[in-house]
Amino acid sequence: MAGPAPALSGVDADPGAGVAVSLRGVTKTYDSGVVALGPIDLEVRKGEFVSLLGPSGCGKSTALRLIAGLSAPTSGAVRVAHHGAQAGRSIGFVFQEPTLMPWTGVRENVRLPLKLAHVPQDEADARVAEALAQVGLAEFADAYPRELSGGMKMRVSLARALVTDPDILLMDEPFAALDEITRFKLNNDLLALWRSLSKTVIFVTHSVFESVYLSQRVIVMTPRPGRISAEFRIDAAEPRTEEFRTSVEYAAHCRAVSIALGRASGEKLAS
Ligand code: ADP
Ligand code: MG
Repeated sequence: MAGPAPALSGVDADPGAGVAVSLRGVTKTYDSGVVALGPIDLEVRKGEFVSLLGPSGCGKSTALRLIAGLSAPTSGAVRVAHHGAQAGRSIGFVFQEPTLMPWTGVRENVRLPLKLAHVPQDEADARVAEALAQVGLAEFADAYPRELSGGMKMRVSLARALVTDPDILLMDEPFAALDEITRFKLNNDLLALWRSLSKTVIFVTHSVFESVYLSQRVIVMTPRPGRISAEFRIDAAEPRTEEFRTSVEYAAHCRAVSIALGRASGEKLAS
């Protein structure tokens, strides 16, 4: 998604100092009658890296769409920090599929949100170059999507989300389709970007291992309707590296989160 999303209804109140996103009593029932989400209460602090973890169909994508303003809650309040002095959300969205335009090159794909926002050509050129450098694709600006690996396509998608310099990055299972080595590399590069750019990241995954590796906080959700069942603070030393991935500490966090996820799903099945 490019740049600030329009508020869907009424005043999009700022969630308050230090808070990037706040959900209060939020539910979502689709027109089909499917109760997808909630009620959910969630507060994400500015600069935090939070994962939403839950089984397929539990409402993770629904939650991200509500935060992005792409869909309205059925009840409750979604508040997103204003972008500086301006009202409105400053959000970058990375989808599970890279969704690139196949008929044009990497540079033009990354430029799209700036084009839609009528950013002047010179400034856009500089910002596209910067975003491509940030994801390690400076050399591939002229390549076409079909010439890229799955991991590189996802890097293009990430650059396209970063090019508007959003405050908040919403990522919906972005690495789920990648092989493990590529995913680990992208995990590390994402963490390095998060540290250097100080963005708020809300990352959706169904992988316990990925959520623990990346996050400061893991939110475990129940199956439909998605509710918050447990929450874990992962207070491992920064910066995290491959060493963390093989540590006893990491394994202990993964075990605790995994048990909570099983319990969240089991509770639902038993009810
Ligand atoms: P997740 O991302 O965790 O897999 P989703 O948020 O995509 O879950 O979906 C939650 C539930 O809502 C699912 O049962 C899904 O089928 C349903 N759902 C999602 N989007 C829509 C929609 N646009 N209309 C009707 N039902 C939907
Ligand atoms: Mg989803």
